[in-house]
Amino acid sequence: MAITIAVVGLGKIAHDQHLPAIAASDDFTLVAAASPEGTAEGVPVFKDIDGLLASGIAFDAIAMCQPPQVRYITAAKAIRAGKHVLLEKPPGATLAEVEGLVRFADEHGTTLFAAWHSRYAPAVEPARAWLAGQQVVSAEMIWKEDVRRWHPGQQWIWQPGGLGVFDPGINGLSILTRIMPDFIHLADGEMEIPSNRAAPIAARMTLADTQGAKITAEFDWRQTGPQSWEISVTTTTGTLLLTRGGSALVIDGVAQPLPERSEYPAVYADFAQLIRTGKSDTDRSPLRLVADAFLRSRHIATAPFMD
Ligand code: NAP
Repeated sequence: MAITIAVVGLGKIAHDQHLPAIAASDDFTLVAAASPEGTAEGVPVFKDIDGLLASGIAFDAIAMCQPPQVRYITAAKAIRAGKHVLLEKPPGATLAEVEGLVRFADEHGTTLFAAWHSRYAPAVEPARAWLAGQQVVSAEMIWKEDVRRWHPGQQWIWQPGGLGVFDPGINGLSILTRIMPDFIHLADGEMEIPSNRAAPIAARMTLADTQGAKITAEFDWRQTGPQSWEISVTTTTGTLLLTRGGSALVIDGVAQPLPERSEYPAVYADFAQLIRTGKSDTDRSPLRLVADAFLRSRHIATAPFMD
């Protein structure tokens, strides 16, 4: 039987990915939504979670697609109402919010899924499999894109909790933390913050594993022209290059055949599986690296950013 689901936060990602993935899924049936202004075809839309929960519409699960700053309260209410919850990335505006949700979900026996959609890109699992058991010598992540192209007019990304350039950058970190064979942590960092904004437009991280590999990550939202979403890893036996956000993989100079895989249908297949098996998946490692960047980096004031 299909799992009934509601969606909260009818913005870009809900319309581009969540609603189509749910519509195409045999596992889920959309029954309602909640968003201050948004609309969704064919289902009632409430202004907020309170209206949705008070409506009496029965549903099993809920996908949180609103900006991260307003996700925790809504997710907590949904869990307390016994709903299974999918959290868009990042799973919270702070680590403690996510810890709180994990506790609530445990107490209420519901599934909590911190969905890192980029981990479902086709090159990620093959890259992880190739790197398993290998000794990394060095790794470099470059995540550079044009904020005006991908986030036109979005204000929440620049506000506290919006993460700035780490909003896309956390996708790269979600891949990096998935494929690296060893535990990595932030050793040093720099963040460039526009003088009229609260969040970074660029950042650099120096990361360390337990074996002394040299690992760096660079993030920049000022990249016009070709966009760069790449991770390269050199091990004692060869080199791996993951490009286009995890859509392509080259090992020792040879392009690898990859399985057909679309991120959001795979996210929802996993969510269904977690619900049906009574499990949760709440990996916080990408958010922990970003939180540590805010703790451990030098802050450099840079030119004001105008939309
Ligand atoms: P967005 O276009 O700004 O949409 C967010 C929507 O959330 C807004 O349209 C707004 O709905 C709604 N919202 C705002 N406050 C709310 C509240 N208190 N309760 C319920 N809904 C509220 O942002 P987005 O790009 O879709 O990003 C949303 C999340 O998805 C972020 O965490 C982002 O990192 C993640 N994400 C985005 C992308 C992408 O390509 N854009 C990709 C993957 C993941 P109304 O219009 O109804 O006011």
